[in-house]
Amino acid sequence: MKIEALTLRELRMPLVTPFETSFGKTVNRRVLLVEVHADGASGWGEVTCGELPFYSAETPDTARAVLSNVIAPMVLHRDFSHPRELAPMMRLIRGHAMARAAVENAAWELAARQAGQPLWRWLGGTRQEIPCGVSIGIKPNLDAQLAAVEKELAAGYQRIKVKIKPGWDLEPLGAIRQRWPEIQLMGDANSAYTLADAQHLARFDDFGLMMLEQPLWHDDIYFHAQLQRQLRTPLCLDESIHHARDVEQAAALGACRIINVKLGRVGGFSSARAVHDAAQAAGIPVWCGGMLESGIGRAHNIALSTLPNFTLPGDVTASRRYWHEDIIDPEVTVTPRGTIMAPELPGAGFTPRLDLIRRLTAWEETLR
Ligand SMILES: [Mg+2]
Repeated sequence: MKIEALTLRELRMPLVTPFETSFGKTVNRRVLLVEVHADGASGWGEVTCGELPFYSAETPDTARAVLSNVIAPMVLHRDFSHPRELAPMMRLIRGHAMARAAVENAAWELAARQAGQPLWRWLGGTRQEIPCGVSIGIKPNLDAQLAAVEKELAAGYQRIKVKIKPGWDLEPLGAIRQRWPEIQLMGDANSAYTLADAQHLARFDDFGLMMLEQPLWHDDIYFHAQLQRQLRTPLCLDESIHHARDVEQAAALGACRIINVKLGRVGGFSSARAVHDAAQAAGIPVWCGGMLESGIGRAHNIALSTLPNFTLPGDVTASRRYWHEDIIDPEVTVTPRGTIMAPELPGAGFTPRLDLIRRLTAWEETLR
């Protein structure tokens, strides 16, 4: 296979409901898509960064610059027999994992389709039905928070994750646990605490949480290990895991008991598989996190979630939770059991809706 051109498109997509985390509130998404053209066909990938450099350093603007000025010259017109060979072509780039992932993932999707296989099976996936949880943003008050949980449980989702921050943690977690004593519940702090909060965080132990996600600094593993020793609640690392070595380090230090894998954060499918394998070898279960993806990134998350060590419900949910109209056909739907079935069709199994993509596109550029 040889990539002849890369088309970049930025779409503007309003969220059905604004999503608030400890970083702030997202209302409109800037979705940067990469279409990889090779052998007379094309595959699609998504740069999953936020609009602002808060979850990670990347934004649509940094990704556009790196894709056009650095990645395109590295990957265009180079022969490769498998998409896993793209990561080594881009090995000189430090950071910019989400920009790299978009290109690599698009090539995986295209290669699987050309091989006549569903992407998930081609990746080595073993479970066609994946369990789904939801991530609920910070709400303006407790009533709104409880109403949001009630709605998602009624929709069948198997696990409830709520975003928390200092001043909005014990109250929502306690109220949810009191009302629903049996549900799988977890909190995501997105690095909003420090080790000085250890005693406060130990109070979360009373809530029987499945896990507490990334309470400390985004770039830290060591101090999470110190915190984990003071908590019964399992810690889950998200922001601080970028590749398989981070998993080995976290496992060796005892910094977490669960890992959230995000395709963009780790740099694409080949790194995500390595992270998955390292976690499995260390006895650490993983789940797939979400980045408010459009259908393109969502479809890739579904494929990733079929790997055998994805034993916990992920944040991959129905298109309708985020979008009035998703840009893929069919949209992603969730069964009444709170699961998603990975499609049997070759490739990602979802077709980009070009008419809608065109309508939402703010700018487009093809690199040859
Ligand atoms: Mg997180």
